[in-house]
Amino acid sequence: MSEPEDYRTAIKEDIERVNQELQLVQNEGHEGKRVKEALWPIMRLHSKRSRIVFEALEKGEISISTMRWCADQGICDPQLLSKWRKPGYRNLCCMLCIQPNHTCICRVPKRDRPNRATTACEHCGCTGCADQDCCGFDDAVVE
Ligand SMILES: [Zn+2]
Ligand SMILES: [Zn+2]
Ligand SMILES: [Zn+2]
Repeated sequence: MSEPEDYRTAIKEDIERVNQELQLVQNEGHEGKRVKEALWPIMRLHSKRSRIVFEALEKGEISISTMRWCADQGICDPQLLSKWRKPGYRNLCCMLCIQPNHTCICRVPKRDRPNRATTACEHCGCTGCADQDCCGFDDAVVE
């Protein structure tokens, strides 16, 4: 199937911008960073692409079939999109942080953490995506 019309008009530009960022990050190398931390920006950019698709779908700018096309192209993760529709998962950062039998620190609301600590999680560097007022899609500081 060729590129859907609504993909081209609604989100293609945004997706391509993220692709460029991805390429930059991937070319950057990992000097001075631990391997996991080097992957954080990549994880976040992958989630960001899914988010673009998700928001366009919610606004009715693209159709379900276009969303599926994006999933087939590897542009978005349909699992993540369906999670975002569930209460409490609206800001979920990535699928790695909700693996069975493991609750990532970033899924613990800040009020339930000792000293309300904002610790970046090891999977994707998310500092918290369980709170309503906090969005995992800010350009979080990656130190
Ligand atoms: Zn998170
Ligand atoms: Zn995550
Ligand atoms: Zn996490």
